[in-house]
Formats: sequence, structure tokens, C-alpha cells
Amino acid sequence: MSRSEIKICGVTRPVDARLAEALGADILGMVFCESPRRVNRGMAQEISDSVENVAMAGVFRGTAAMEIAETALACGLDYVQLHEPVTEQYLSELRACSAARIIVAVEPQQLGDEAYLRMLAASGIDSLLLDLPKGCPPGTTLTLKDIDSATASGVPLRIAGGLNAYSAVALLQLSRAIGVDVASGVELSPGIKHPAMLSEFITAVRNAGAGRLPSPGADGRIGPFGGAYVPETLVPALEELSQAFSHFSNDGDFRAELATLLREFAGRRTPLYHAARLSEMQGRPVLLKREDLVHTGAHKLNNCIGQALLARRMGCTQLIAETGAGQHGVAVATTAAMMGMGCRVYMGSEDIRRQGPNLRRMELLGAEVRPVDSGSRTLKDATSEAIRDWVANCNTAHYLIGSAVGPHPYPTMVRDFQAVIGNESLQQCRELTGDLPGTVVASVGGGSNAIGMFAPFIAQRSVRLLGAEAGGHGNASGQHAAALGLGRPGVLHGSLSYLLQDGNGQVEPVHSISAGLDYPGVGPEHSFLHSIGRVEYMSVTDREALEAFHLLCRTEGIIPALESSHALALALRTEGSGPLLVCLSGRGDKDIEHVLATQRSMQEGDHEAA
Ligand SMILES: *Cc1c(COP(=O)(O)O)cnc(C)c1O
Repeated sequence: MSRSEIKICGVTRPVDARLAEALGADILGMVFCESPRRVNRGMAQEISDSVENVAMAGVFRGTAAMEIAETALACGLDYVQLHEPVTEQYLSELRACSAARIIVAVEPQQLGDEAYLRMLAASGIDSLLLDLPKGCPPGTTLTLKDIDSATASGVPLRIAGGLNAYSAVALLQLSRAIGVDVASGVELSPGIKHPAMLSEFITAVRNAGAGRLPSPGADGRIGPFGGAYVPETLVPALEELSQAFSHFSNDGDFRAELATLLREFAGRRTPLYHAARLSEMQGRPVLLKREDLVHTGAHKLNNCIGQALLARRMGCTQLIAETGAGQHGVAVATTAAMMGMGCRVYMGSEDIRRQGPNLRRMELLGAEVRPVDSGSRTLKDATSEAIRDWVANCNTAHYLIGSAVGPHPYPTMVRDFQAVIGNESLQQCRELTGDLPGTVVASVGGGSNAIGMFAPFIAQRSVRLLGAEAGGHGNASGQHAAALGLGRPGVLHGSLSYLLQDGNGQVEPVHSISAGLDYPGVGPEHSFLHSIGRVEYMSVTDREALEAFHLLCRTEGIIPALESSHALALALRTEGSGPLLVCLSGRGDKDIEHVLATQRSMQEGDHEAA
């Protein structure tokens, strides 16, 4: 990634222009056509005169070439930016009367018009600006495919479309765009730039490392997703957590202590196992990342240790969590015992009835399990109770969320604690094969093992990334948990993300054979990666997962978790070349009874159908 150009658009005040210049913006844009950010020539001259080391651009729509030329001259415009389909003749008229460089704005649907793009490329314009059309539904982003086809024209490209600190950096890392253009992303009301947002945006783009996944800005936005939809009482606690997280994630002592615990207690690094017999079947190397060998039997402990360590540094003595099937509860109880912290786990009484062994595990580990009898007596009711506890006790207690979901900073924090999966895998894959994987596959419940696995590969566009969602009884059945495949953006558990919801925005009931994937939402970063098209999310049915479960048992001597069996099923039906890297997120001992019972009922169903 070379130095990216930053264009701040919709400037209406000299004070904003001076700040943007001081922060290192390259181009400032002023709007001369109909817009809440419109300026007249007088204002534009004043803005232009207030800065020295930054180029000025004027935005026009449907204005005669001669008038644009006059405005450009009067207002010291280095660029004119045209916001409608332009003709060759119009461009040559404009060039004849103005020395300003020409930017032409295009929208995704124009990219199919190859003749238009060829005309623009041949006309000697300076650059293209790819923007989203006005009035897109919430949650719309540019796609990498759009950006790629625009850069394929050969004309330098800047990108726009509701960018913020996160999405600007991510899209620059993943594409050949030369720069970004932002207006609303750095303001609270149209035309009034917000100093902190301006500074955050410019700093993020300037400091972006080539391979490192970006972190959201203070508003917690991951492109249009994420954020922190929480009661006011929690805002200070989340802010404190954000600060502690950014401080300690760069603290040598903290990182060393985390690395020691992951090694000595959790049993890292986990092997990357070359599954020889599966490889032979697939005709390509199949590499299994053995998170099933982490202490407690799944990847969840990586995140629990990270968060608990952070909580202790923040002075917390208690961990609070909710659990559905009990896996996360056991990981939290384990961590609390090891670190000498108190632990309260909320669990729906219906879930307690179904998951006796995990209840006893948590109690053996010294956790206090509080049954929840309200609502459906399952996970979402337990979540509400856990949050209530946290609100009342946030000075001494840390709320330990178990997946890459929830309000900012949780999704990013969980991602970073789980990135150990991907970082190890990348290195091990190089050691084993001398190469990057061709395809990486992981199951997606809330998305923590997947985002941790994908993290170091996202910037490597040659690596195909696949997320397996729970297809349950099939997409048409309505009984599934495919939030990305079949949901729409909405708010659940404190953040905006894809969500299975009815026409009124009520959360839909979900189904999966696997308890860990049985969740109606998904982490906001996955929503972003889905929207831009970097990761492909596909459904795997209960039946396909069961087949993969048995296959792994018999061909490799590994009993996988049903969650991980979804990833495996998707991997095995995917064609391609290069090593196939699969995240085996957990072991399947917990699932044996359920597998046998489900098979019996499926067989009965088949008999009835026959
Ligand atoms: C909980 C769980 C999952 C799903 O959670 P993510 O946050 O999506 O990773 C997947 N696999 C196993 C083994 C689990 O326990």
C-alpha cells in the first residue's frame, strides 16, 4: 500500500479547511451544486484563501463548461469534479476553457458500461471517483468487485460512499484505489466537520499498515456496521474498556503474560495437522487447525484468557457471562478459577435442563451459575440478566462476551484475542507447504473463531475465505441460522449487523443442530466483509454437517465439534487449488449424544417419508 491520498469533501468553513490541512489532507472539496453542503463563490474564495498546502476541488452537477471554468479560476480550484454522466464533447469543452484537472464521479451501476469507461480513460481526465448512489439502504458498501472493475479502466481511482476510519483503511488495503474521499464520515451535521473525527480519519489512513486489519474509530463503526447501542449507564464502562484494551494490547508485559498463559495453560500453539487421508480424497493438502486441542476443548478459551487478563489489569475481581449450551460458561469458569477471580454465569433454565454436564462442570470450577426463568429461558434471556448484573456492578465486574459480537470494543477485542489462531496457522502453513493456503474455511456462529482465523489472510486477496453458516434444515425451511445469507442489517446485543428478523424487526427464532451456531445475529466485522465481498458465507445443513462429522471420525481419528463439522463440510465441497486450511474450532465429545439422537429421529423421518 503506497501513500494514499485523502480528500475531505463538503468543506463549508475556513476553520475546517485549516484543520484538515494541518492534519495532512491532500485535497479539499467544496460543493457548488444542490446539496446541504453547498457553498457560493464568496465562501469558496474565503476557504481557498485560508489554506496553502492543500489542493482545492469543486463539485459540480449539470453546470455549463464555461461557468465551471469561471468558478475554478475565481476560487483557485485545482480540480473540478463532475457528478453526472459526461460526454466526450463536454469534457473537451471544459478542457478547452479550464486548466483544472478533471475528476469524474461514477456509481457502481455505471461500471458495466465499458464504452463509457473507455471514453473517460481516453479523454485524459485526471481520475475517477467511485461513490454509492444516494439513498442506498442502510448497510450498503462499495464492493471489491466494483472497485476492481473501476481500477481496471486504468484511470486512477478514489473511493467514497460513507467511509469511516475502518472502511477507508480496509478498502485501501484491499484494492488499488489511490485514495479516499470522505464527507459525512467526519461530521456530525452536514458541512460541519468534527475535529476529533477528522483527526481520527486522517490519522487512521496515514498510519495504516499494509497487512494489519484496521480497528474502528471511537464510534466503533466497522463501515456501516458495529457501533455501541447501549443504555447510557454503560457508556463509561465501555469507554474505559476501549481505553484499557488499546493501552494493554500494545503493552509488552501484558502481551508476554498472555502469551505465557496461552502456552502453559491453554496448550498453545495448537498443531496444524496435515490430514493425509482427507488430502488424498480432495486432491489437495487439507490442513486442520487443531483448536479442539485447546484446554476445555475449543477456541473459546483464547478469548476468555485475554479478556480476563485485561479485566484484572483494570482492577476487576469478578467475571460475568451468559451461556447457552454451556461451552462459553465453562471457558469463563475455567479462566476465573485459574486467575482467582469470582465468576457468575447466567444460564436459561431450559438450557440448564438440556445441558446438565456443563452445569456441573461450571460448579466444579467454582462458578456461581444463576438460572434464568424469564422469557424463553434460553440464551437471550440469560444475556439480558448478565447485562443487568454488569450495569449494577461494572466497577468490580467485567462482562466477558464470548464471541465477536456486542457493542464496541468487544468485536475488535475478541477478534484480536482470537487472531492467534490465524497468525499461528499462517506461519505453520508456510512451514508445512512453503506457501499461503489457497482456501481458508471456518464456521460462523457469532464469528469469533472465523474472524480470528481470517484475520491475517484478509489482506491477502489470493487467499479465498469461506465462512460456514448454519443452514439447519435448509434455507427454504425457515429453520436455520444463516444471518448473513438470509438476514438484513438490524441491531442486536448492542451493535448493527446482519440479523434474522421479521418484517417488524423482531428477531426470528433460529435452528441449528449445533448449539454454538444457533444464533440469529453475527459479528459486525463479518457483515462488513460480506458486504464488500471479501469473505464468502455459505450455508451448510445439519445433514451435511453430520456427514462431515462422521467422515472426520473415521478417516482421521478426530471427533470434531458439530460447529467445526460445518466448516469441514463446506471445505470438502469447495473446489480450488493450494492448501485447504480448515479451522477445527472444537472437539465433539460434547456432541456425541446429540448426534446419535438426531440420527435416530432423522431415520424415523426418512421412514415416514418413504
Ligand atoms: C462456540 C463455538 C463456535 C461458534 O462460535 P464463534 O464465535 O462463531 O466461533 C464454533 N465452534 C465451537 C467449537 C464452539 O464452541
